[in-house]
Amino acid sequence: AKDAGGNRTEMVDDALEMQLNNKMAMEQALWRAVDKGAFELHFQPQVDPRSRQIVGAEALVRWRQKNGSLVSPAQFIPLAEESGMIVRLGEWVLREACRQAVERENAGYAPMKISVNVSPKQLQHELFEHTVRDVLKETGFNPARLVLEITESAALKNVDETGAKLQALKRLGIGLSMDDFGTGYASIGYLKAFGVDSLKIAQSFVREMEKNNPHGEVVEAMLAVAAIMRLEVVIEGVETDKQFLYFSDRSNCLIQGYYFYRPMPLVDFPESEIRKHVV
Ligand code: C2E
Ligand code: CA
Ligand code: CA
Repeated sequence: AKDAGGNRTEMVDDALEMQLNNKMAMEQALWRAVDKGAFELHFQPQVDPRSRQIVGAEALVRWRQKNGSLVSPAQFIPLAEESGMIVRLGEWVLREACRQAVERENAGYAPMKISVNVSPKQLQHELFEHTVRDVLKETGFNPARLVLEITESAALKNVDETGAKLQALKRLGIGLSMDDFGTGYASIGYLKAFGVDSLKIAQSFVREMEKNNPHGEVVEAMLAVAAIMRLEVVIEGVETDKQFLYFSDRSNCLIQGYYFYRPMPLVDFPESEIRKHVV
């Protein structure tokens, strides 16, 4: 039975195979992948453009296939979200990100902020705050260095309820970031009400700015909002010199893009600039 089952599992576990197959099989494969530890985290550095130092990183999940290849989250997060499975996967991501961050700090590296994506389903889940508290306690990660990235659509599902949840999360001492700011419909009034500390500007705006709108009015407007509200800004998807130069001397901007680094395992982060003195 093991042999026959094993063969079938091998087939079903292959996410590429899944694309040709149905949703249900893909969902089952996702569940098994959590059990088998087939997910991995890559981290993409967030760089201070003036010092070029890495000050933070965003955790991004990948699905490791039998053949060694990695499947992008774009290919499974939507289904994980739709099926509710994201609650379990998201908890794994949070715990693993904090665990690796602590391991790195214990090895003598300078601490940095770690951002973790939180999907709407996770945020809506009644036990989410409890989970975050649990993970912080279990891993010993300093809450001041954890940033949860939420999306406008998640925040707006039920404004009052979400506001209360986010405030409870903030009381744990963590940071909140509004992911893909400007692509949803959140009023800027919510930013303060939700206790948001930073905004992430999506790559689409950075590209748009370069192509059609060299004066960058939309991006400038977002930066102005951030400045007035004293929010930090993370510019995503910066790839070119021109894009980098546009933001390079701003005081409240961090750069997250291929221009500096692609997402990679935490152990592959460049050591030189971030090794702290160990006595
Ligand atoms: P996101 O949260 O907007 O993450 C940024 C994405 O932009 C990442 O793609 C990153 O690799 C990519 N990126 C960063 N800089 C550049 C650049 O210069 N050029 C280009 N072309 N791309 C760049 P990735 O890792 O494929 O993740 C895609 C999306 O999947 C994420 O978008 C996020 O919405 C979702 N995701 C990833 N990990 C998780 C997770 O653990 N939980 C949840 N709920 N969603 C996740
Ligand atoms: Ca994100
Ligand atoms: Ca984003």
